[in-house]
Amino acid sequence: VPELLEVERYRLLAEAGLHREIADVVVDDPHCLVAPSDPTTLQAVLVGRAFTAARRRGKLLMLDTAELTLGLRFGMTGTLMVDDRPGVDGLVYSPGLDERWVRWRLRFADGGAMALHDPRRLARVGLAPDEEALGPDALTLTLGQLRTALGSRVPGPPLKARLLDQAKVAGIGNLLADEILWRAGLAPGRPCGSLSGPEVSRLQRHVRATLPQLAARGGSHTGDLMAERHPGGRCRRDGTALRRDTVGGRTTWWCPAHQR
Ligand SMILES: [Zn+2]
Repeated sequence: VPELLEVERYRLLAEAGLHREIADVVVDDPHCLVAPSDPTTLQAVLVGRAFTAARRRGKLLMLDTAELTLGLRFGMTGTLMVDDRPGVDGLVYSPGLDERWVRWRLRFADGGAMALHDPRRLARVGLAPDEEALGPDALTLTLGQLRTALGSRVPGPPLKARLLDQAKVAGIGNLLADEILWRAGLAPGRPCGSLSGPEVSRLQRHVRATLPQLAARGGSHTGDLMAERHPGGRCRRDGTALRRDTVGGRTTWWCPAHQR
């Protein structure tokens, strides 16, 4: 599943598509289009222009032209390709790359292309994405931003559910949330408004440290908890049998001994 770390790699790849004139927009699968939902309008506003910046907020990739912003969301299995290079070698839950699964592509006047590859058809392309509906980006999350995101209302929703709420913090998905909470020693079902000042600081330090570390290792599936996310899995810190619960509607693995 492309999480923040994967989308950041797509963003870096998309920089290879900046300042190149767009010659054509080909929509192989109109299902991926939102606002506008017709290929003709998208073509009319993009052809003859060039992207000037590739930005990211959470899992939303934004490509700016001088006049407008194109937003790309990658769903469960979306991959960005530029000049036939994929943004990631292969996602954990995604089969390999296949021409049949290209949903949308741009041809540059110089002969190259940018394409969205997505087997499960959950990725979306649209103009003027609502960037402000997203919370602060997790990669640069400050202590003050995390305090605001968690709130002080007691009990508040479960801590993990709040971290997954993209309107509160943008970019943390299921695997990253479990990894961060395991490292920080905080129980996923704990009410988010119940954390002490030192606990909020600890959580913020682990958000900021975990993301670059996993990025360097190759993605959100490279966490220390990953290999133990199965029945019989044990905590690598203390050997305790991990628990599997549903928190915030998502499968959650956690250690009942050191996560409090
Ligand atoms: Zn443990």
